[in-house]
Amino acid sequence: MALVVQKYGGSSVADADGVKRVAQRIVATKKAGNDVVVVVSAMGDTTDDLIDMAKQVSPLPPGRELDMLLTAGERISMALLAMAIANLGHEARSFTGSQAGVITDGSHGKAKIIDVTPGRIRTALDEGSICIVAGFQGVSQGTKDITTLGRGGSDTTAVALAAALDADVCEIYSDVDGVFTADPRIVPAARKIPKISYEEMLEMAASGAKILHLRCVEYARRYNIPIHVRSSFSQKVGTWVVDSSEIEGHDMEQAIISGVAHDRSEAKITVVGVPDKVGEAATIFTVLSDAEINIDMIVQNVSAASTGRTDISFTLPATDGQSALTALNKVKERIGFESLRYDDRIGKVSLIGAGMRSHPGVTATLFSAIAEAGVNIEMISTSEIRISVVVAQDDIDTAVAAAHRAFDLDAEQVEAVVYGGTGR
Ligand code: ASP
Ligand code: MG
Repeated sequence: MALVVQKYGGSSVADADGVKRVAQRIVATKKAGNDVVVVVSAMGDTTDDLIDMAKQVSPLPPGRELDMLLTAGERISMALLAMAIANLGHEARSFTGSQAGVITDGSHGKAKIIDVTPGRIRTALDEGSICIVAGFQGVSQGTKDITTLGRGGSDTTAVALAAALDADVCEIYSDVDGVFTADPRIVPAARKIPKISYEEMLEMAASGAKILHLRCVEYARRYNIPIHVRSSFSQKVGTWVVDSSEIEGHDMEQAIISGVAHDRSEAKITVVGVPDKVGEAATIFTVLSDAEINIDMIVQNVSAASTGRTDISFTLPATDGQSALTALNKVKERIGFESLRYDDRIGKVSLIGAGMRSHPGVTATLFSAIAEAGVNIEMISTSEIRISVVVAQDDIDTAVAAAHRAFDLDAEQVEAVVYGGTGR
């Protein structure tokens, strides 16, 4: 008998029919002789709707209360799912994150899991029950308050439970058939990737691919949990995310590029006229780090000899834009920069592939393709297996399509199906 952890995203349980369809799938897995633990997200766009509602009553809702509100979304879907399963004649019990033993730190809205103690889940499984766990939430060890893991965090709940329960597989169900070479909503000719390594998936997730939460992949890699990303709307085999040693011919004839990811959620700040002295960059980034702002790309220009000043640009999550500007303005006199420029009409396009390590010319091909598409590159950053560029927001789709084509990733026949979801 195997232990299977399944996670269903919001679009899979968007309405009562969706809940019933998912319930049938879960029962089929149970009937096949498996123990089943299910992690479920809030129905459809519930989380977004709850956030909208919070903003209507307060421009800056307290983190504790926002978490309390948002976790209600998953309570609705978990209870409905348990009812639908009961209606099919099987026993199911729903658990909040806290009841399932998901222990986190206390940072509301972006809590980190520090321990998982799934005693109650284990007992319920032993008693023959199917367990339904509310995704993306836990309880703070220190304050005992309810926390959330950040948007998209149900994937992480699923992998964390899979690790704690020593599950055989973690299946992540979504509204597309797996991980594609690009978002099929932008590139209809995108292809399904049969197997991808943790490290490439990490880069994809960090580069904005929303199919899997970044921390879920980190977690899976740390505990070596195989993830099967697939659709709840079809029976097709999806994408396996596994250790690179398990990918056939991983050191031989491998595709150079695995995929193209994009990210619309970043903004760019330029600190104009920074005196070119020792320690200025250190001060700027210490101030930002003290404000708990995660910086992504950084570019420092060569200083003009005549002025002895330089500009430093960096990207960050647009949601942190205001706090970054405030933090920097507080030290304006001390650093002596001239002004700040803020631009949230940007986006990031990234090319990911372990094969680029051993293939020269990838950068040249990418830049030529983007140039031929008439798109201007504003910033560049690279890792061993990734090249990212910042472009104007309106150019993202064009740049993604151009990069996808340049590396022969387009399928001859459209195979990607988007079954649901608004992509909101
Ligand atoms: N419902 C949460 C969200 O929309 C968590 C999740 O779906 O993973 O972000
Ligand atoms: Mg999700």
